[in-house]
Amino acid sequence: MAYVLPDLPYDYAALEPHYQALNLEVHHSKHHAAYVAGANATLERLEEARAAGDYAALVSLEKTLAFNVSGHVLHSLFWRNLSPDGGGLPEGELAAAIDENFGSFDALRAQLSQAAVLVQGSGWGALAFEPLSRRLMVEQVYDHHANLVHGAIPLLVFDVWEHAYYLQYRNVRADFVNALWNLVNWPDVAARFARARDVAPA
Ligand code: MN
Repeated sequence: MAYVLPDLPYDYAALEPHYQALNLEVHHSKHHAAYVAGANATLERLEEARAAGDYAALVSLEKTLAFNVSGHVLHSLFWRNLSPDGGGLPEGELAAAIDENFGSFDALRAQLSQAAVLVQGSGWGALAFEPLSRRLMVEQVYDHHANLVHGAIPLLVFDVWEHAYYLQYRNVRADFVNALWNLVNWPDVAARFARARDVAPA
């Protein structure tokens, strides 16, 4: 299999009270797992299409591939972005870049929170590094794979699909987004920022 569901780097109850164990367990073991299964199944169907020389379903398969692989990538990132010891403020070069590109941490927090809260339907808010301008920017992602800046590298992502929060927060998405700030693993985000800056621009 090309894709495997990763274990979480903490127990399901480790993020309480900000993220309830039951909600986290369903999210990881059911929803994320479904994207992994969907990604692998779609690769198999593409292999069958190539073998048969039959590309009649290719448009549908390519959409399904983008949806499931992007879902797997974003969830894998999301779990690592959170920590039982998270919260607080970014430090060092990441903090300096946030100040330079957004004006202040509070301005980033407001923009990223609103990008997440205001997603119409299902999606994500993301802080990303764009290699061509070498700037940080906020993305508002629809589903898992739409409204992206091509080539930008996501560093910090907030899942705002209803499955991410509905068991614990019901319809109040903004409360979930506020709670996530208490869990952000800033050393993980900073390490991703350092690696992203080594990527050559397009
Ligand atoms: Mn999700």
